[in-house]
Amino acid sequence: MFDLNAIVRKNILNLKPYASARDEYKGKEGIFLDANENPYGTLNRYPDPYQMKLKEKLSALKGVPTENMLIGNGSDEIIDLAFRIFCTPSKDKALTFSPSYGMYDVSAAINDIELIKVPLNDDFNIDMDAVSPYLSDECLKLIFVCSPNNPSGNCIQEEGIDFLLKNFKGIVIVDEAYVDFSSTPSWNTRLANYPNLLVSQTFSKAWGLAAARVGIGYASRTILTLFNNVKPPYNVSAINQQAAIDALDNYAQFQQRLKNIVEERGKLRTELEKIDIVRKIYPSDSNFLLVEVVNAQAVYDDLIAKQIIVRNRHKLVNNCIRITVGTPEENQRLIEEIREMR
Ligand SMILES: *Cc1c(COP(=O)(O)O)cnc(C)c1O
Repeated sequence: MFDLNAIVRKNILNLKPYASARDEYKGKEGIFLDANENPYGTLNRYPDPYQMKLKEKLSALKGVPTENMLIGNGSDEIIDLAFRIFCTPSKDKALTFSPSYGMYDVSAAINDIELIKVPLNDDFNIDMDAVSPYLSDECLKLIFVCSPNNPSGNCIQEEGIDFLLKNFKGIVIVDEAYVDFSSTPSWNTRLANYPNLLVSQTFSKAWGLAAARVGIGYASRTILTLFNNVKPPYNVSAINQQAAIDALDNYAQFQQRLKNIVEERGKLRTELEKIDIVRKIYPSDSNFLLVEVVNAQAVYDDLIAKQIIVRNRHKLVNNCIRITVGTPEENQRLIEEIREMR
């Protein structure tokens, strides 16, 4: 049985959370003299600490109740909050797979938490035999699964994630930053089956709002109560909440751009496959391709010289570069330059 209280840090369990003026009086009409705000201006009022307008729009789109949603200052805030809620510094541990997203390392290091890394298998899926022995460690509190995975691009098979959720007593965080680019459904509709599941998504990629810093967490109400108690009350600015609301209101544009990017991803693959120095292109459910070339450093340097910037992922996957899908013109330029290389 999953026992949430057993895995939460004691100081967090006992925390008396900050009660903002907006927690105390939730009405919308009246003369507001309770939050020491300035009565003049347009951005003079504190934003909604629970971002209800945004959550209601998201709820309609995603089919998840608002009480199972958390809005973060980017999904990176949600990752950091998970460490702070569940992991006692210099004692507890977290686990992820490799290769994966670098922010798990940084967040673990900031919180003084050891991050165990279990290699993914050859097709970048979870090796259940390899991860199994770690699951019974009393100090292991969090497991991060990135799906679709950065930098490999693939969705992680359901079987592996289900195995973790069923066999681990801590929290499994499924980072779905790239889920919109995939036809594999989100895990966010299965919260009722998995009390230890936390799904994160973001407005930074498919929604085109990286500058606005808006992330989404989905989990049980009891898990999210902890997150709401620990997060800064006004963690997402009114401007940024509005940017996300505007994007949701402009759903047709979102769909059109998403379609363009997915089509371009296919074209980019087809063209790159014809080039000699390209050895392998991994399957992608995201807005980037992981491409193995003869010499990643050389390709990277040559592209930089042409002012085309890709990510050299050689240290994570041998001789691989990660190419984000750009506009048709940008992708065309990239292909022309790589074609010239020997
Ligand atoms: C880009 C990315 C994010 C996004 O983080 P934000 O803080 O929401 O911008 C999260 N996870 C992964 C794996 C990413 O690649």
